[in-house]
Amino acid sequence: MAFPIKVCAVCSEEFELKPDKPGFANRCPACSEPEQVKAVTKTGIDVDERKTLKEANEARRRAMRDLLYRKDS
Ligand SMILES: [Zn+2]
Repeated sequence: MAFPIKVCAVCSEEFELKPDKPGFANRCPACSEPEQVKAVTKTGIDVDERKTLKEANEARRRAMRDLLYRKDS
């Protein structure tokens, strides 16, 4: 059984395009690994961005609490 030979769009390595190959059809199995995708998404949010999100959440929680507190009194 012969599979079509493709050239990986990421590392330019030739690979056999098997029908059950996971990931993109123009990427070799090594470049289609889920770990690679995860690494890219992990670096998507940096520390500053996470800190801003946390502060926004805290501010919203405080505002909600103030609102409830005002309603009670
Ligand atoms: Zn590759």
